[in-house]
Amino acid sequence: MGKVVLITGASRGLGAATARIFAKNGYDVVINYVNSDLKARLLKEELEGSHQIKCLTIRADISKQEDIKYMVDEVVKEFGTIDVLVNNAGIAMDSVIEDKNFQTFDKVLNTNLVGPFILSREVAKHMNQGGSIIMVSSTNGIDTNYGYSLDYDASKAGMLSLMHNLADIYAPKIRVNAVAPGWINTDMNKELDDEMIKEECECIALGRFAEPSEVANVIYFLASPEASYIHDTIIRVDGGLK
Ligand code: NAD
Repeated sequence: MGKVVLITGASRGLGAATARIFAKNGYDVVINYVNSDLKARLLKEELEGSHQIKCLTIRADISKQEDIKYMVDEVVKEFGTIDVLVNNAGIAMDSVIEDKNFQTFDKVLNTNLVGPFILSREVAKHMNQGGSIIMVSSTNGIDTNYGYSLDYDASKAGMLSLMHNLADIYAPKIRVNAVAPGWINTDMNKELDDEMIKEECECIALGRFAEPSEVANVIYFLASPEASYIHDTIIRVDGGLK
């Protein structure tokens, strides 16, 4: 049996790009999603059609404990083990500071921080020696400077702290690392107008947003045998963002 990767929020964007590179490298892929049944199904068809692998699509809201339990049980029933977990799913709820409240913080923190923690803990129970957990954080979790997303930024900073803790707890059995992407061309940024994109690109040494595959390649590398001595590390993938 091949290796198994579980990717949260994998029906589109960075998650889908990550699913594609793991599938290309022979992994069986668990595509977690919460909204788009159709996109998840189409991705499964695409991956199984192009590679000799198996895909499982699972609808589960990672901000809900019962959904996490259901998902892990289903994956273990199907594959017996999980080799790689990519905590990719995430949300941003940008707004002026006056509109932030307990409910908005709850939603952002439960999705971006508490869910990845509970899921990592439950998945780790089924990982063998050599397992790998990767957190998809953000440069916003390091250089926090955007008031509209202060809840998102706090969640992504928390995710890095979580990564360091889990790295301590699970070594040497499981390697735990994080990527901190800058701007990526995905639906998360579809509301940005051209003027804002232009201004942001002026702060990026490479002068453009990343394509999802450019970040997915780094996630795959972190899980691969070539990264066997990389542990408890954050890799920025931001094109030289200032
Ligand atoms: P995206 O919005 O296209 O993808 C996020 C995915 O997560 C979606 O498929 C969404 O349905 C899923 N998701 C949201 N809440 C969920 C839940 N409760 N349970 C399960 N799935 C859920 O955006 P993306 O850019 O592909 O984002 C992927 C990750 O990359 C996110 O964690 C995001 O914070 C991070 N990131 C993105 C950027 C960027 O510029 N796009 C930059 C840095 C970090």
